[in-house]
Amino acid sequence: MSMLNKKTVEDINVKGRKVLVRCDFNVPLENGKITDENRLVGALPTIKYLVENDAKIILCSHLGKPKGEAKKELSLEPVAKRLSELLNIDVKFAADDNVVGENAKNAVSTMENGQIVLIENTRFRKEETKNEENYSKELASLADVFVNDAFGTAHRAHCSTVGVTNFVEESACGYLIQKELKFLGDAVENPKRPFVSILGGAKVSDKINVINNLLEKVDTLVIGGGMAYTFLKAQGYSIGKSLVEEDKVEYAKEMIEKAKAKSVDLLLPIDNVVAAEFSKDAAPIKTDDQNIEDAYMGLDIGQKTAKLYADAVKSAKTVVWNGPMGVFEFENFANGTVEVAKALAESDATTIIGGGDSAAAVNILGFGDKMTHISTGGGASLEFLEGKELPGIVALNNK
Ligand code: AMP
Repeated sequence: MSMLNKKTVEDINVKGRKVLVRCDFNVPLENGKITDENRLVGALPTIKYLVENDAKIILCSHLGKPKGEAKKELSLEPVAKRLSELLNIDVKFAADDNVVGENAKNAVSTMENGQIVLIENTRFRKEETKNEENYSKELASLADVFVNDAFGTAHRAHCSTVGVTNFVEESACGYLIQKELKFLGDAVENPKRPFVSILGGAKVSDKINVINNLLEKVDTLVIGGGMAYTFLKAQGYSIGKSLVEEDKVEYAKEMIEKAKAKSVDLLLPIDNVVAAEFSKDAAPIKTDDQNIEDAYMGLDIGQKTAKLYADAVKSAKTVVWNGPMGVFEFENFANGTVEVAKALAESDATTIIGGGDSAAAVNILGFGDKMTHISTGGGASLEFLEGKELPGIVALNNK
């Protein structure tokens, strides 16, 4: 895979050079307060390395969706403040509606080695998400070297992730991307077997390519969540009012056949927890088997299924999990997701959690530190599992 041979921050000379670092500072904010700082913490190792090695560090990131306009509530200023505290070094914020305007240029031109400047939200400029050359050049003009450490946006070809690499002297990945590539890359390309992958979440259509690609790699594929009902329908069971994608039933049949042809154990729910309506107050009812009566919808895997899935995890040496097993946001329908998370937490296998909802679930349940790796990128890790090359990584210099 051409993504696995990229220069890292340690492969380039950074002393005295201006290094533009694309971070993922896309943190949740409530009234200007950062409510989850995991992404800031994730960026620290690369920043610290650059400080210790006398670089002039220019940080950039997007935050939310300002849609190409300067929006005060999406300014990165609170991030600069919190980063200063976390690093115990002053992170100067270059307030600038044009991102690379006079303020940013001035702040950068007077930098000394080991100093840090954070520029404004890269998406304040409409060119960013279109990867337009003029803005890529502007960003590059601030620096000599570019380091990408934003795994969460590595699947997007934007000015600050891809375009900029064309106009700097050198580019490399930071420690966070390096870590993601190591864990996700090893799991998918060189897994210790048995290799079990667990997929859940709402829709089959979001995970079509993941299912197809993983069937080439895994020993066991476990499917839960809303997407399981399209598969149960494909097997001829009645699924009541459950979430279903009628136009994906044929595809589900093909995947069931593919699993057989590849001798992959495809595990689907053998019982369910159902309710008459989609509500947190709905009474949970257990079914005896796969079938669901017309007036009900499946909102979680049943107990027998949870045990089946947990047993698959117990016998695995590598587990990759993406997507909840049910509507885990509702307490009555969280059990399947909790049981699977527990099985991973108790396992000695290499356990990798794709970003997004499964990462959130694992952290909320307090199992975060029991996992080998929790990816910081939901969309990016899914595309990785699809076998796609991520443009923000491909664009970096090879070793
Ligand atoms: P995704 O973003 O595709 O990973 O889907 C996550 C969402 O799927 C969560 O918000 C879950 O509540 C939802 N979900 C999981 N299982 C079901 C289900 N059986 N019916 C409806 N929604 C579900």
